[in-house]
Amino acid sequence: MPTREEKKKISSKRWRDEHKIERAIYDKKFRDEDPLRYWCISSLTVHKRKGCDINITWQELKEIVKRAKFCSYCEEELDWNRKGTVYSKSPTIDRIYNERKIDQESIRIVCLRCNLIKGNEIGTKLKARLKKLIENVPE
Ligand SMILES: [Zn+2]
Repeated sequence: MPTREEKKKISSKRWRDEHKIERAIYDKKFRDEDPLRYWCISSLTVHKRKGCDINITWQELKEIVKRAKFCSYCEEELDWNRKGTVYSKSPTIDRIYNERKIDQESIRIVCLRCNLIKGNEIGTKLKARLKKLIENVPE
Protein backbone atom coordinates (compact mmCIF):
# COMPACT_ATOMS: atom_id res chain seq x y z
CA MET A 1 0.00 0.00 0.00
CA PRO A 2 1.38 3.41 -0.89
CA THR A 3 1.73 5.83 2.01
CA ARG A 4 -0.20 9.09 2.09
CA GLU A 5 2.93 10.91 0.90
CA GLU A 6 3.41 8.46 -2.00
CA LYS A 7 -0.27 8.77 -2.97
CA LYS A 8 0.12 12.54 -3.10
CA LYS A 9 3.18 12.15 -5.34
CA ILE A 10 1.43 9.68 -7.67
CA SER A 11 -1.67 11.81 -8.07
CA SER A 12 0.35 14.94 -8.65
CA LYS A 13 2.47 13.11 -11.28
CA ARG A 14 -0.76 11.85 -12.86
CA TRP A 15 -2.14 15.37 -12.84
CA ARG A 16 1.05 16.65 -14.47
CA ASP A 17 0.91 13.92 -17.14
CA GLU A 18 -2.76 14.55 -17.88
CA HIS A 19 -2.21 18.29 -18.27
CA LYS A 20 0.98 18.27 -20.33
CA ILE A 21 -0.27 20.59 -23.08
CA GLU A 22 -1.90 23.12 -20.74
CA ARG A 23 1.23 23.09 -18.61
CA ALA A 24 3.48 23.69 -21.63
CA ILE A 25 1.32 26.64 -22.73
CA TYR A 26 1.25 28.10 -19.23
CA ASP A 27 4.99 27.50 -18.87
CA LYS A 28 5.77 29.34 -22.12
CA LYS A 29 3.50 32.26 -21.17
CA PHE A 30 5.10 32.44 -17.72
CA ARG A 31 8.60 32.34 -19.23
CA ASP A 32 7.85 34.98 -21.88
CA GLU A 33 6.30 37.37 -19.34
CA ASP A 34 9.47 37.61 -17.27
CA PRO A 35 12.40 35.40 -18.38
CA LEU A 36 14.52 36.28 -15.34
CA ARG A 37 11.76 35.42 -12.88
CA TYR A 38 11.28 32.13 -14.75
CA TRP A 39 15.02 31.40 -14.58
CA CYS A 40 15.13 32.17 -10.84
CA ILE A 41 12.11 30.07 -9.91
CA SER A 42 13.08 27.09 -12.05
CA SER A 43 16.72 27.18 -10.86
CA LEU A 44 15.59 27.25 -7.22
CA THR A 45 13.11 24.41 -7.88
CA VAL A 46 15.87 22.24 -9.37
CA HIS A 47 18.14 22.84 -6.37
CA LYS A 48 15.30 22.19 -3.93
CA ARG A 49 14.63 18.85 -5.66
CA LYS A 50 18.32 18.01 -5.30
CA GLY A 51 17.88 18.43 -1.55
CA CYS A 52 19.38 21.90 -1.12
CA ASP A 53 18.29 24.15 1.72
CA ILE A 54 16.89 27.26 0.04
CA ASN A 55 17.36 30.45 2.06
CA ILE A 56 16.75 32.98 -0.66
CA THR A 57 13.58 34.17 -2.38
CA TRP A 58 13.31 34.25 -6.16
CA GLN A 59 13.06 38.05 -5.87
CA GLU A 60 16.40 38.23 -4.02
CA LEU A 61 17.95 35.87 -6.55
CA LYS A 62 16.61 38.06 -9.36
CA GLU A 63 18.47 41.05 -7.89
CA ILE A 64 21.74 39.06 -8.02
CA VAL A 65 20.96 37.80 -11.50
CA LYS A 66 20.25 41.32 -12.83
CA ARG A 67 23.88 42.23 -12.09
CA ALA A 68 25.30 38.99 -13.51
CA LYS A 69 26.35 39.81 -17.04
CA PHE A 70 29.52 37.71 -17.02
CA CYS A 71 30.54 34.30 -15.70
CA SER A 72 32.37 34.65 -12.36
CA TYR A 73 34.97 32.09 -13.47
CA CYS A 74 35.81 32.55 -17.16
CA GLU A 75 34.45 36.13 -17.33
CA GLU A 76 32.73 35.43 -20.64
CA GLU A 77 29.36 36.98 -21.29
CA LEU A 78 26.40 34.93 -20.09
CA ASP A 79 23.56 34.30 -22.50
CA TRP A 80 20.26 35.16 -20.79
CA ASN A 81 18.32 35.16 -24.02
CA ARG A 82 18.34 31.51 -24.98
CA LYS A 83 14.84 30.31 -24.12
CA GLY A 84 14.09 26.75 -23.15
CA THR A 85 17.42 25.17 -24.01
CA VAL A 86 20.70 25.24 -22.15
CA TYR A 87 24.19 25.36 -23.63
CA SER A 88 27.73 26.29 -22.60
CA LYS A 89 27.01 30.01 -22.07
CA SER A 90 23.78 29.45 -20.16
CA PRO A 91 23.80 30.98 -16.69
CA THR A 92 23.71 28.56 -13.75
CA ILE A 93 23.81 28.83 -9.98
CA ASP A 94 27.22 27.88 -8.64
CA ARG A 95 27.26 26.76 -5.03
CA ILE A 96 30.68 28.25 -4.30
CA TYR A 97 31.65 25.74 -1.60
CA ASN A 98 29.43 22.95 -2.94
CA GLU A 99 27.37 23.00 0.24
CA ARG A 100 23.77 21.90 0.09
CA LYS A 101 22.46 25.39 0.73
CA ILE A 102 21.42 28.34 -1.37
CA ASP A 103 21.63 31.83 0.11
CA GLN A 104 23.00 35.20 -0.97
CA GLU A 105 26.53 34.48 0.28
CA SER A 106 26.96 30.89 -0.88
CA ILE A 107 26.21 31.29 -4.58
CA ARG A 108 27.31 33.09 -7.67
CA ILE A 109 26.23 32.97 -11.28
CA VAL A 110 28.51 31.11 -13.67
CA CYS A 111 28.22 29.65 -17.15
CA LEU A 112 27.15 26.04 -17.51
CA ARG A 113 30.50 25.08 -19.00
CA CYS A 114 32.47 26.35 -15.97
CA ASN A 115 30.00 24.81 -13.55
CA LEU A 116 30.43 21.41 -15.24
CA ILE A 117 34.24 21.74 -15.30
CA LYS A 118 34.20 22.63 -11.60
CA GLY A 119 32.16 19.52 -10.78
CA ASN A 120 31.89 18.69 -7.11
CA GLU A 121 35.36 19.84 -6.11
CA ILE A 122 36.50 23.06 -4.46
CA GLY A 123 39.68 24.77 -3.33
CA THR A 124 43.08 23.13 -3.67
CA LYS A 125 41.70 19.82 -4.97
CA LEU A 126 39.89 21.60 -7.79
CA LYS A 127 42.88 23.82 -8.54
CA ALA A 128 45.20 20.78 -8.68
CA ARG A 129 42.89 19.03 -11.14
CA LEU A 130 42.53 22.13 -13.33
CA LYS A 131 46.32 22.59 -13.29
CA LYS A 132 46.73 19.01 -14.54
CA LEU A 133 44.12 19.66 -17.19
CA ILE A 134 45.95 22.76 -18.41
CA GLU A 135 49.28 20.92 -18.43
CA ASN A 136 47.87 18.10 -20.51
CA VAL A 137 46.04 20.21 -23.08
CA PRO A 138 48.08 20.14 -26.30
CA GLU A 139 49.02 23.51 -27.86
ZN1 LIG B 1 32.36 30.44 -17.40
